[in-house]
Amino acid sequence: MGSGSSSDYVIVGAGSAGSALARRLVDAGRTVHVLEAGPADEAEAIHRPQGWPALLAGPQDWAVMTVPQEFANGRSLFWPRGKVLGGSSSLNGMIYMRGHRSDYDGWAAQGCTGWAWDDVLPLFLRSEDHLTGANAHHRTGGPLPVSPITSPHPAARAFVDAAVAAGHKRNEDFNGDDLRGVGFNEMTVRDGRRMSAWQSFVAPVLDNPALTVTTGALIDKVVVESGRAVGVEYVAGGERRVARADAEVVLSAGTIGSPAILLRSGIGPAAHLREVGVEVVAEVAGVGENLHDHPLISVVYESPGPLPEGRANLLEAQFYADSAGWTGAAPDLQPLFLHLVYPAEGYEMPEHGYTIAAGIVAPKSRGTLRLASADPAEPALVDPRILADPYDLEALCDAIEMSREVGRQRAFDPWRKREVAPGPEATTREHVREFARRSVGTYHHQVGTCRMGVDELAVVDPELRVRGVAGLRVADASIMPKVPSCNTNAPAIMVGEKAAELITG
Ligand SMILES: Cc1cc2nc3c(=O)[nH]c(=O)nc-3n(C[C@H](O)[C@H](O)[C@H](O)COP(=O)(O)OP(=O)(O)OC[C@H]3O[C@@H](n4cnc5c(N)ncnc54)[C@H](O)[C@@H]3O)c2cc1C
Repeated sequence: MGSGSSSDYVIVGAGSAGSALARRLVDAGRTVHVLEAGPADEAEAIHRPQGWPALLAGPQDWAVMTVPQEFANGRSLFWPRGKVLGGSSSLNGMIYMRGHRSDYDGWAAQGCTGWAWDDVLPLFLRSEDHLTGANAHHRTGGPLPVSPITSPHPAARAFVDAAVAAGHKRNEDFNGDDLRGVGFNEMTVRDGRRMSAWQSFVAPVLDNPALTVTTGALIDKVVVESGRAVGVEYVAGGERRVARADAEVVLSAGTIGSPAILLRSGIGPAAHLREVGVEVVAEVAGVGENLHDHPLISVVYESPGPLPEGRANLLEAQFYADSAGWTGAAPDLQPLFLHLVYPAEGYEMPEHGYTIAAGIVAPKSRGTLRLASADPAEPALVDPRILADPYDLEALCDAIEMSREVGRQRAFDPWRKREVAPGPEATTREHVREFARRSVGTYHHQVGTCRMGVDELAVVDPELRVRGVAGLRVADASIMPKVPSCNTNAPAIMVGEKAAELITG
C-alpha cells in the first residue's frame, strides 16, 4: 500500500461543506489534505448556470438509484449527487436559501447546543457576498457570491403573477423575515457563472502551500489506531494508499458518502457490519438511520411553442405555503417553477413546455442507508421509504393541487397549451394520490444519515465528533437531524463553517 503525505487535517469530499471547511482551516494556518473521488470541475456545463440539466447522470454524477420504493409503486428513484470538485454544489440548481429560524431552533431544542438560529445566522452571513450590497438580511465580503434574479424569464414572471392571483402574498426575499409567499429566488451566481462552493471558497487559495488536493481518490475507510482516527485509506489509479492526519479526519462526503465510509470503517450498527463482513471498530447504532429528503413532483404543461431561452438558473421563482391543517412555524410546501419540461415519470413529455414542481419540505418519512458489501466501488443500499408516512402523501397532494391552481390562472394563458401531468383526467383526490405515487421524485435535499444529537442513536455530538472514535468528525448535510425547510446548499456550507469554528475555536 502506498503511504501518502501527512497533514494536520484530512477532509474527505470537496463538496459544499468540505470546501467551506477546507478554506477556513487553510486561512487559520493549518495544513489540509482534501481528497475527492471525482475529477476537477473542468466541464463547461458546470460553470454555465443553464448547464445543470446536462450534468445529471453524466460523468460528474454518482447517479444514485434508491432501492425499489414500496410507497411509490415499487419504483427506484434517481438521486443525482455531485462527484467532482464542488460536489453537489457543482451540479445543483444554485438557489440560495437559508431556511426558517424554527429549523435550527428545532435542532437546538433536541440538545444540539450551538446550532440555534441565532448561533448559525452569523455563519451564513460570514459566507455571504451579496452582490447588491448589505442590508438587514444580507452581508458582503464573504467568499460565496449571492445574486438576485434581476431580469426574470417572462414565464417566471407569469408564475409569480399567477400565484398572486391565486391568493399567495408576494415575498420579496426568501432570506428575509418570512418564507411564505411567492417570489424570485437568489442564486449563487456571479457574472453569469455558477459559483460552486469549490470555486467560491477553495479556488482562490489553491496556490497556498498548506493545501493539498487529490482528485480521483475513492475513500474506502478511516484508519483507526487505538481508538483514534489517524488517516484514511483510499484507492486512486488502481492503487491503495493512505493519507495521514496528524490532528483529525473530517468526513464531508455527503449524506450518501459519509455513512457508507463510516460503515466500511467498522463504525455503525454491529449486526449490519457483521452481515457484510466488516469488523466492528465502534458500535454506533445510528449510522445510516434517519435518511430523509424533500419529495418533489413535476406538474408539467405543454406550451404552444418553444419558450425564450433562460438567462439565469432555470429555477427562478417559487412559492411557500401551508398544507391543510399545518400549524408549523415554517411553511411545509415549496413548489418551484422551471421554464423547461422537468419530466414526470410515467408520462410522455411534450417537446416544449414548463413545470411547476410541487415540493414538500417537512417530510415525516425516514429511511436507511446500508452497505451492499464492504467493497467501496459497490453502491450502498439507499432506502428513503418515500411517502411511507401518510402525512407526506397528503401534503404532497396539497402541493400538487396548489400548483395546478396556480397553473390554471390567466397569467399563464399565453404560455399554456395543456396540462400534461397529471393531466385533465386527474379530477379526484384519489387520482392525485395515484399521480404522486407514480411520479414522485427528489428535490435533491437528502440529509440525516450521520445525525447530530445527544441521544443513543446520534452519530455525532453537537461538536460533530463521531461517538466512540477520537479524532474523527463528520461535517456535511448528513449531520442534519431534520432537513431545513429550504434548499440545502447554503445550510451544508453553514455546517462547514461551523465545523471550522469548532475545530479552530
Ligand atoms: C441536482 C441537484 C440540484 C440541487 N439544487 C439545489 C439548489 O438549487 N439549491 C440548494 O440550496 N441546494 C440544491 N441541491 C442540494 C445541495 O447541493 C446539497 O444539499 C449540498 O450540496 C450537499 O452538500 P454536502 O457537502 O453535504 O455534500 P456534497 O456537496 O454532495 O459533497 C460530497 C462530496 O464528497 C465526495 N465523496 C463522496 N463519497 C466519497 C468517497 N467515498 N471518496 C471520496 N469522495 C467522496 C463527493 O464526490 C462529493 O464531492 C441540489 C442537489 C442536486 C444533486
